[in-house]
Amino acid sequence: MTTGGSSPSHYTQLSNTGRTDNIVATNTNSPALPPFYKPDGGPQAQQITSPGAANNTDIDHGTDSMHLVGTQISINKQKCIVKGRVNCGPEELYALESDKPLSGYDGLCPKCRKNHVHFDDPSRGYYMSVKNAHDIVNKQKLDNERLKGRKDIPQLTNIVDNLPPLDQPILGKNKGIEGDSNSCYMDATIFCMFAYNNVFDKLLHMEVKTEPLKILQKVLRETIVHVLRDKKNGFVQRDALFHLRLQLSEATHDPSFKEMEKDPSEFLRAFETLFQYAPLKTISPDQPPKPDEANITTNIIWEMFDANPHRLPSTNIASIFRNSLSEIPAKLATIPPFLVLVAPRHTRSQRSYRYIIPDREITLDNSIVQLVCLKCQKTNHDPETSKDFYFCNECHEKESATVTTNATITCYCTNCLSDMHKHLAGSIHTHHTKRVSSDKIKLNLFAVLCIETSHYVAFVKCQKRNPLQHEWLFFDSMSDRMYDEQNVPLVDSVPDFDKWIDDAEKDKDDFFNWLDDRRGKRQPTSQTFNENSMRQLRLFRDGA
Ligand SMILES: [Zn+2]
Ligand SMILES: [Zn+2]
Ligand SMILES: [Zn+2]
Ligand SMILES: [Zn+2]
Repeated sequence: MTTGGSSPSHYTQLSNTGRTDNIVATNTNSPALPPFYKPDGGPQAQQITSPGAANNTDIDHGTDSMHLVGTQISINKQKCIVKGRVNCGPEELYALESDKPLSGYDGLCPKCRKNHVHFDDPSRGYYMSVKNAHDIVNKQKLDNERLKGRKDIPQLTNIVDNLPPLDQPILGKNKGIEGDSNSCYMDATIFCMFAYNNVFDKLLHMEVKTEPLKILQKVLRETIVHVLRDKKNGFVQRDALFHLRLQLSEATHDPSFKEMEKDPSEFLRAFETLFQYAPLKTISPDQPPKPDEANITTNIIWEMFDANPHRLPSTNIASIFRNSLSEIPAKLATIPPFLVLVAPRHTRSQRSYRYIIPDREITLDNSIVQLVCLKCQKTNHDPETSKDFYFCNECHEKESATVTTNATITCYCTNCLSDMHKHLAGSIHTHHTKRVSSDKIKLNLFAVLCIETSHYVAFVKCQKRNPLQHEWLFFDSMSDRMYDEQNVPLVDSVPDFDKWIDDAEKDKDDFFNWLDDRRGKRQPTSQTFNENSMRQLRLFRDGA
């Protein structure tokens, strides 16, 4: 796995919308459900806002729900009536009748040369794949929406002063980020990264060189993150997201960021490339890092893989993470400031596991972390060396001038430490040594980004300062819709979050069978699958 190497794959899923066509090919194209982890840390202070009722509708960005038959659409600036939707072999086609004769068309099906529908004038009749037609119509809809009354960047709510992440939940409807057409992948990711967390704040403040990057960073920082963190506000308007997407397209030269529903991995990889920010460093076992770090692999996210040879229905994040490290094989060269773990898929249409439990804590023990002796360059994965490594305040001070790479944890092997200390005699008392403990480094879960029914939502932990406790929140940038076009974002409390994970961990098979059962039975979603069960399903299911 190398820097910038995302692995796109397409997949199909069962839609959960209760509509008649329930196979939806999503336009998301890589794995879902990244849980986010960070080391233990302290938060800040303030008070609670009123909770809002959840009335979550399923949003399906697939296009099978489109009903075009009988309507007029415009293809290549030519008006066409959609005369019918037909199946020809495996193809799904629309029969279209243009308002002007088309040269070279005879109204016959291009696949089978038969007459599937009656055209008033066969020379104006032709066929187009359902998917292409939907793509064209969707794109036109988006473009129209885009042109309607957008605010310019200077007109957006803008907060220049740095604000720390929230330490009290801001709950309710119209809180969080207002979805902008198909922006949910970005809304949910940004909410995970910034609303209640500062582990990604480096991206907001680092020095960037080019003008497009400066604008991108400023839009993100001042019109989105700070507004999200403003206790009197906590609501980001969709026009801010619109501009972020424009700027991201500009900076990456990839227009799909402003047009398509992409996935969180692509979004994070774009930041990795643009901001050269990839703090997750891995290395082959038993290799000391080269001075130029040429043998260090860097990433902003960790796209896990796991073929699941035993066809288990479920697993937990920590075991996939450990397995995918040992498959490569690779070790962590440093303790990362955060871990973004992306759930695996093994083919384009198949997820590796039906359900994945996000561990609330991941221990980075020495079996996955590589310790390297500053003196002799031996590692803790060298079969010859003792597994014990040490820090020494004084020796490290002296030695640090010789350290040429920061892709290593600075410590000494047992032999080198005792060698160095052998001749110290009187001054030994100033040398304070500490064994590098193997289970002290724990990363805590702070967010889970989920996809189910081709729509991204997030669970985010609000770490409170006083008293020191946490609360889990659910965020959906499109929880409801007003006037059929404006999205209603929702932040809601999830009091049972910990219990759900406890239950899943305690009795995996029963629990997931129960979820399977609920999922299998639901027809009209609202009746058999209430909002709470739906959230529970979203949290664990590696859907698409
Ligand atoms: Zn045909
Ligand atoms: Zn050594
Ligand atoms: Zn020492
Ligand atoms: Zn969505």
